[in-house]
Amino acid sequence: MTKSEVLFKEAVDYIPGGVNSPVRAFGSIGGTPRFIERADGAYMYDIDGNKYIDYVCSWGPMILGHNKREILDSVIEACKNGLSFGAATEKEVEMAKLICEIVPSIEMVRMVNSGTEAVMSAVRAARGYTRRNKIIKFAGCYHGHSDAMLVKAGSGVMTSGIPDSQGVPEGCTKDTLTAIYNDISSVEKLFEEFGEEIAAVIVEPVGANMGVVPPRKGFLEGLRSICDKYESVLIFDEVITGFRLGLDGAQGYFGVQPDLTTFGKIIGAGMPVGAYGGKREIMEMISPKGPVYQAGTLSGNPVAMAAGYTQLTILKEHPEIYTELNERSEWFFKEIEAMIKDSGAKCRLNHIGSLGCIFFTEKEVTNYKEAKEADTQKYAEYFNYMLNAGIYLAPAQFEAMFISYAHSKQDLEKTLEILNDFMRK
Ligand code: PMP
Repeated sequence: MTKSEVLFKEAVDYIPGGVNSPVRAFGSIGGTPRFIERADGAYMYDIDGNKYIDYVCSWGPMILGHNKREILDSVIEACKNGLSFGAATEKEVEMAKLICEIVPSIEMVRMVNSGTEAVMSAVRAARGYTRRNKIIKFAGCYHGHSDAMLVKAGSGVMTSGIPDSQGVPEGCTKDTLTAIYNDISSVEKLFEEFGEEIAAVIVEPVGANMGVVPPRKGFLEGLRSICDKYESVLIFDEVITGFRLGLDGAQGYFGVQPDLTTFGKIIGAGMPVGAYGGKREIMEMISPKGPVYQAGTLSGNPVAMAAGYTQLTILKEHPEIYTELNERSEWFFKEIEAMIKDSGAKCRLNHIGSLGCIFFTEKEVTNYKEAKEADTQKYAEYFNYMLNAGIYLAPAQFEAMFISYAHSKQDLEKTLEILNDFMRK
């Protein structure tokens, strides 16, 4: 037995499913999760001494690669001053200013501790601001695990085949309406029926929790104009796309401005962080300024702020990072597309920027229903083949593959070689 196998056997006795977040359990792809000892640059090393080229990147935040020296140094420095004060610090102001400077649609921002919290709080802000209750989300979009969001959710919810989670009372989801991703008419219909009651539309501007599903031309623009018409709040959940597609995220990439934006892990560079922000008049609804309550003992934690601030500053000061990362990724994905074509493998690739996903279906994937048609058994074969050859991919079909700035051309070439072997088989 490998050390990972021994540890997993023990873990399941003490932690539900042996893991602290579901997809990590390798449930849909079989086998034992690898227990990671350390990571550096583009690589992760497990406790059995195996080395992997990592395409999960902690699900996004390690855009500069693992263990980035400047980030580590800033964390160590911050730690020396204390781990948490539960009181205001200078770094929080610097961080807020930096985010507002980088993202034009954000005039005020509140730090929280996860993407889940960011979304839950942004939705509350939108409801408080509009004094309406209903929200629209899209099937296959994942917005964390707060009660109201666990309706046709993507990511682990989709992988496990649970339509809606047990333990969520109907009352918590009765105001959550679901529309079809990339289908503006499905949104129009809901507005025609419930228009005056809809507080917000929340969307992943690039679907990244049903595999990767980019928005069709006009989809995000359509949401913007519908929200304007009905005076509803448009929320972009940029937990995945923020500071990834470019410095100003999907909203900069597509040129569509939301009213509120949620961010997650990437702004903490791997520390537990989230944030939500946007229009001043909405954000001023938040306590203690306004009547919408939202709080957090560890929110704006000094160590997390140090990590995130350093990462965002590096990204801001080096625009070439996005140019090179996106160019390298584009080259990599084009190679994969050519390989699929040449080998005749029955799969297709969706990609944008440094995000990508192979679906084992020959049909186009533009929404949740089409994503679900992909052969997850085949994904499991692909995943296991790649893992055994030292390539660590998302351990489930309905997730994204993340490329970091630390992935060299050689890393990508090596990955392509292994992928080519798999495709030919
Ligand atoms: N929104 C999106 C778009 C996400 O991808 C995720 C998680 N990957 C979340 C929200 C929830 O974030 P967290 O896991 O940090 O709570």
